[in-house]
Amino acid sequence: MQKIINDLWYARRDLISDGFDSALNYISELIPLSIIEIPTGTECWTWIVPPKWSLSEGWISNGGEIVLDVSDHPLHVMSYSQPIRKRIKKEELMAHIYTYPERPNAIPFGFSYYENNWKFCIQHNKLAEFREDNYDICIDAKFTEGTLKVGELVIPGKSKQEIALIAHLCHPSMANDNLSGVAVLIETALELLKQSQNKYTYRFLFLPEAIGSLAYLSQNEYLIPSIKYAIIVDSVGHNDVLSLQHSRQANTELDICASYVFKDETLMYREGAINKICGSDERIFNGPGVDIPSICISRFKFMGKGGWPYPEYHSSDDIPDIIIIDNLVETKNIIIKMLDILNKNYVPKRNFKGPICLSRYGLWVDSNKDRRLSLSLSDIMSSLEGDKSVLEIAKEVGISFSDLFVWLDKLHKENLLRRQSGVPD
Ligand SMILES: [Zn+2]
Repeated sequence: MQKIINDLWYARRDLISDGFDSALNYISELIPLSIIEIPTGTECWTWIVPPKWSLSEGWISNGGEIVLDVSDHPLHVMSYSQPIRKRIKKEELMAHIYTYPERPNAIPFGFSYYENNWKFCIQHNKLAEFREDNYDICIDAKFTEGTLKVGELVIPGKSKQEIALIAHLCHPSMANDNLSGVAVLIETALELLKQSQNKYTYRFLFLPEAIGSLAYLSQNEYLIPSIKYAIIVDSVGHNDVLSLQHSRQANTELDICASYVFKDETLMYREGAINKICGSDERIFNGPGVDIPSICISRFKFMGKGGWPYPEYHSSDDIPDIIIIDNLVETKNIIIKMLDILNKNYVPKRNFKGPICLSRYGLWVDSNKDRRLSLSLSDIMSSLEGDKSVLEIAKEVGISFSDLFVWLDKLHKENLLRRQSGVPD
């Protein structure tokens, strides 16, 4: 995962750009991606696919020397800036300078995809160096017809029902946001490709944030009814605990499963409602008229409490050095475990009356070997009325999903219960 991040992070992966396309091609060497193209100008519900943006030059000169040059750092020119070349007064230039006063040595990530504007992004501490009255400026940018690209990998399951796994690949010259999510999903896909066929079909999507989801879903509306759940992975590599943002529906099988796995796998984590932690592609997948229950896994802090999602967010400080590989591995393991539970989960319905004579069927559990399961057997036997899933019973009774699954499997083999398909949300 480290190599993926090191190889891709510095490139200009703007929304629709050569850099984005090269990154998708890079990923398709690792996993068998199909690349879906949606042309500039395509109406995507209330949105329109923007043009391709390319930048060949961007600098500010004080007449004698260049004082800022995009060749020193790609973030120095705001993404999707309009082209401009002229001599301007300092006041006018300052109205087009973007800085982060709270992080004065970092270059901010600026973007203006849907409004015509231009800006230079610089370290706040460098403002003092602008002492001349006039400056020559140049942004040599081109807007051309292009195609928005979505990298798609479908791993077929036994069922046509799907789980979508999504990471955005845009954002030039930044690592954690969101090559961390991209690397985690590539690794997850590689692991799932090795497994035997699961119940669910998996649909991996690598796309430009927001507009990529809008374009993909609006041009493939027929897919929406078969996507049961979506998992969005955003900024999961930096040094912080994991954050689970629930779906808008809040209490679906996916939400219950995610809460259960987070609690089981991590010592500390944040948990919050939709729009309280992230604001990424779940806004589209879980948005009006789409309504796919979607969780977002990140390491963001809660929104609206001042401060940033993480200190290096949307700046030139978001570099590979801030990513902790163990944090990526932890995230991948959590996703794999969630998918495993979702694949195995079902609603058990008893075929017996009265408490089961456990020893007759080899179902008795020695309390010295597994005290928790042994003490829970009566509660479990009373929970097999066909209205709760294995996951819900495990959570209610307080034992592990896998222990319960294995024990119920023995009941199933003895024809003491039926497995009802379809877990109601
Ligand atoms: Zn971002």
